[in-house]
Amino acid sequence: MDYNENRRPDPFMTWFRQQDSKGFFQSDYERVLAILIDARFDQRTTAEKALQNTITVVRYGALKKLVKSEELSLLVPKANVTAEKWTKLFCDALPAMNELSARVVAQEHWNSTDLLDLMRGELHVPYLGIKTARLAVRWIHELVPRIKIKMSTYRIPIDSLVYRVCARLGIIDPTIDKYSGEGSPADEKIQRFVESILPDRPWLLDEALWSTGRQPSKGGHCYPSQPNCNGCLFDKTCEKNLLDVDPAKMGIQLSTALRRSKSSCTKKMITEKQAAFARFVNELKQEGIKGKEYRDKIRRWQIESEDSSAR
Ligand code: SF4
Repeated sequence: MDYNENRRPDPFMTWFRQQDSKGFFQSDYERVLAILIDARFDQRTTAEKALQNTITVVRYGALKKLVKSEELSLLVPKANVTAEKWTKLFCDALPAMNELSARVVAQEHWNSTDLLDLMRGELHVPYLGIKTARLAVRWIHELVPRIKIKMSTYRIPIDSLVYRVCARLGIIDPTIDKYSGEGSPADEKIQRFVESILPDRPWLLDEALWSTGRQPSKGGHCYPSQPNCNGCLFDKTCEKNLLDVDPAKMGIQLSTALRRSKSSCTKKMITEKQAAFARFVNELKQEGIKGKEYRDKIRRWQIESEDSSAR
């Protein structure tokens, strides 16, 4: 695919490669830790702001020690969180990221699904969600050559950018193919499409899709309404559906479900829910449940839990 031969890597990859070529990282452990740090920051913000935070914490020595929030300058927060809180949350999550980095580099060969299961279950890092964990897996695959990850089972993260572009391309119909998380109709259709055109390297379409859906100032084309198709990577093949409305607003149901769930939850309920989830993951681990069965059970637990919160 031409795009991937000539693609402009995202800001983190560019920064990482520059640092690596200068011998900045002293081990694969530090490489993986830097990747986890940036992937965790890369949520509900721009890649540039996430990188700004990564550079800040790395300068304060976060690859070599557990930094304290009092030592750090304030980080750029994600939406709806204060800078003070986001800085503290980073410091609180750093021990878990250290533990996960150590586990990842202890093994040279991984399956992307097993690695994601590890990140989402046994060694879960607070605020490293499903999309940012997939991003971390892709970056480890592309940036840490000693660690070999079998990527054929990789599923691309769906967000509003990817959803919008896929809808306009004609891959999904937002009136029918709703997205509410992994395994939902839109997710399945998009993953099947990606597998059909890039069965050995499904992750390569990831960046092409989300970067096309970005704002014009970030080099994107497929805005929420009235996209600029001139110069878009998909211009010649796109069906150009729903140019006057944002298909993501029509088809993504996750944020509504989460808002409803969160607004009806007290802080105590959220803590209890987190503890129950941790117990459930531990039970699955003790029963030796892995792979697809593990993911299905986790998904069912989350759906049932959201249903009971919403009632
Ligand atoms: S060609 Fe136009 S409608 Fe299609 S993906 Fe590109 S910007 Fe969006």
